[in-house]
Amino acid sequence: MSPLSNLAVRDIETVLHPYTNLATHRDTGPMVLERGQGIYVYDSSGKEYIEGMAGLWCTALGYGNEELVEAAASQMRRLSFSHLFAGKSHDPGIELAEKLKAIAPNEASKVFFVNSGSEANDTQIKLVWYYNNALGRPNKKKIIARTRGYHGVTVAAASLTGLPANHTDFDLPIANILHTDCPHPYRGMEAGESEEDFASRMAASLDELIQREGPDTVAAFIAEPVMGAGGVIIPPKTYYEKIKAVLDKHDVLFIDDEVICGFGRLGTMFGAEAMGMKPHTVSVAKALSSAYLPIGAVIIDDPMYQATVDESRKIGTFGHGYTYSGHPVAAAVAVKTLEIYERDDIVGQVNSVSPTFKKRLDAIGEHPLTGQARGLGLIGALELVADKATKRPFDSKKGVGARVAAFAEEEGLILRAMAGDIVALCPPLVISESEVDEMFDRLGRALDRAE
Ligand code: PLP
Repeated sequence: MSPLSNLAVRDIETVLHPYTNLATHRDTGPMVLERGQGIYVYDSSGKEYIEGMAGLWCTALGYGNEELVEAAASQMRRLSFSHLFAGKSHDPGIELAEKLKAIAPNEASKVFFVNSGSEANDTQIKLVWYYNNALGRPNKKKIIARTRGYHGVTVAAASLTGLPANHTDFDLPIANILHTDCPHPYRGMEAGESEEDFASRMAASLDELIQREGPDTVAAFIAEPVMGAGGVIIPPKTYYEKIKAVLDKHDVLFIDDEVICGFGRLGTMFGAEAMGMKPHTVSVAKALSSAYLPIGAVIIDDPMYQATVDESRKIGTFGHGYTYSGHPVAAAVAVKTLEIYERDDIVGQVNSVSPTFKKRLDAIGEHPLTGQARGLGLIGALELVADKATKRPFDSKKGVGARVAAFAEEEGLILRAMAGDIVALCPPLVISESEVDEMFDRLGRALDRAE
């Protein structure tokens, strides 16, 4: 192993890293990134990488976009900060809310700003509880998420998340959060079962859970259109229409977590459109500003807004909000980001390169290590297995996914290894066809080395 750089040593001495094996990090040290351009980032030694994960599923417009830099700088010069508390407002906030309302995949009424996906989903929970209190239904409070779903890391959002690493030793989940089955066709479908049958079974299981808990106690269901961090899991055909029928039967709200799928990722402006979801409320973040600054939003429908206003009329202040809710500089960057998505037809761009992405993904699915290669639009994953025929996973201690990710870094590609030896790809949406080819060439070499 090469000696650690001075920066790496300083990192080890000072930084507590999120989502990192803190023990091994002391030996391996960090990858210190210095700059980025287009889909590429460069580390402190000058080595180039394709950012195959768009950062953390977020830098949709890639790096070094001068229009976004300029939007931030000019807003900073004009009004560097103003909040939205106590009825104050500012034009980037208003403009962003208008734009989101116009394109949202629900019957959008109002937009509440936050700084992250976790805060968005935390806010969703609070709004659902507030809503049911306003409607005089104080017992209707349980929220159902899904095993392997990812919704963030605040106390409540981490409780929604259905991954063991987010619960173990954090004393989570909190009360009133439940999990239903993960609709993972590759692992969950039984022999002879069609996708439609599997979807019916998933919906029946949700129905049973709601019946068991008591429909009067269940307030909402939350789902990512395609699960990201849980392993890029694309639900079976007809899944959401069947789920929605169950939710409607029991008067349960549908929360759509678009934090990864929003803004073109699946080849539609929102994942809900690609998946046929009909949500009441929507969470967005990440690509909302192409991750140039932290900003997110919760987009609610009119019944939720009306109930929230009624409650506020009764009790006074609506007591929720962050200092940086709708920060004007982040909002100005998000406005510019949405303008670019529209002007440059980001959805059209995704649909023009995604056939190449799919072709290369399918081809890499033939690799001896790959049990399944799956994807939609510009998100994809390989599920690596010890035995293709039986789908037998690798012994988890072998860390095959992590090894592939490490070799990929050596080959100049950043991707993400997740639990279950799943390796994800989620490049900036501005990637070209030849860059897609280059990305898969690098991935292929990494897989060959990991064999
Ligand atoms: N929801 C989804 C679907 C996500 O993928 C993420 C983060 O990856 C979050 C919520 C949490 O967002 P943040 O990390 O910005 O809090």
